[in-house]
Amino acid sequence: MTWGEGTRTVRAGLPEPQAYEPTLPGPVFAAHYHLPGEPAGPYTYGRDENPTWTHLERAIGELEAPGDPDAETVVFASGMAAISSVLFSQLKAGDAVVLPADGYQALALVREQLQAYDIEVRTAPTGDDGQLAVLEGARLLWIETPSNPGLDVCDVRRLVTAAHAGGALVALDNTLATPLGQRPLELGADFSVASDTKGLTGHGDILLGHVTCRDASLAAPVRRWRKIAGAIAGPMEAWLAHRSLATLQLRLDRQCATAMTLAEALSARQDVTGLRYPGLPGDPSHKVAAGQMRRFGSVVSFVLPDRERAERFLGALRLVDDATSFGGVRSTAERRGRWGGDAVPEGFIRLSVGAEDAEDLVADVLRALDETS
Ligand SMILES: *Cc1c(COP(=O)(O)O)cnc(C)c1O
Repeated sequence: MTWGEGTRTVRAGLPEPQAYEPTLPGPVFAAHYHLPGEPAGPYTYGRDENPTWTHLERAIGELEAPGDPDAETVVFASGMAAISSVLFSQLKAGDAVVLPADGYQALALVREQLQAYDIEVRTAPTGDDGQLAVLEGARLLWIETPSNPGLDVCDVRRLVTAAHAGGALVALDNTLATPLGQRPLELGADFSVASDTKGLTGHGDILLGHVTCRDASLAAPVRRWRKIAGAIAGPMEAWLAHRSLATLQLRLDRQCATAMTLAEALSARQDVTGLRYPGLPGDPSHKVAAGQMRRFGSVVSFVLPDRERAERFLGALRLVDDATSFGGVRSTAERRGRWGGDAVPEGFIRLSVGAEDAEDLVADVLRALDETS
């Protein structure tokens, strides 16, 4: 019998029941393990492996690649650790990589580091298939879809086909969608990478990341990089992540539905421009998103007339905290331009929809807009 997605999510990664043991074993705090004789077996030293990671990795793997026995997941201390593990283990001097021009902020720093290692970095915006023109001879194509913060979407199947034809591997930053919103490996990507700090864990209380690979040969260098860099998740964080994962479907169903309701309400406003939500039928990303995503995410973005209005709007919200990051159960929003680095207008707002009642949240946002107009 095959289980539905909600059933798989609440049971993901649980070990076989054992009498008098907990359903989800608690975090294992160990720097070393009893290791008589020749070093062998699954657990030797705490930087290499940890049973709490193993349970979480199985859980994430069951959502990223349901029923695929070859897929392997490796968890990291943060999303950036996961991203770095793929880029720096796959690329060497003389290689070329294609990065998004409009992706996660810290990619600009990564780009400088790659160039310092004599790796050629090409960039292309997420939408409009611009990646196709710069793929030739590249070793790796990195895509982020939907992109943060612009919420553009690229056609993953099309880009994967072109990249593979030219001998390039494909990594997809799936942070915004989570594996219940989009399954990159099924769309053909070689690496599904994410910051689990965001929607996957969803409570705004831990940093974590993961990489899921199509097979063991792709996972090995990623695992080796974790060992070299030592970018390992704490057992407590890994356990909290597993605990949080059980409610992923419940949280996403609520958050994505409310994001859609909010986007619809915002689309009726004169003072809101540049509204983006991939779930809106009129959104430039909608057609491609509908062909590859199973949920459209919890983030809505829009532009208010100027910086001053955006700041007053954020200050007037009561149910939405002025804070960075996204995907949590409590709504947050920020004026993205305050960081510098993203090519966005001064009044650009990224709003992450939480698990509040839709009615309350939409009323709060509309009231804050009215009060500051
Ligand atoms: C937050 C984020 C990251 C970085 O993750 P950390 O957990 O903060 O290291 C990477 N990619 C995207 C799309 C993100 O939103």
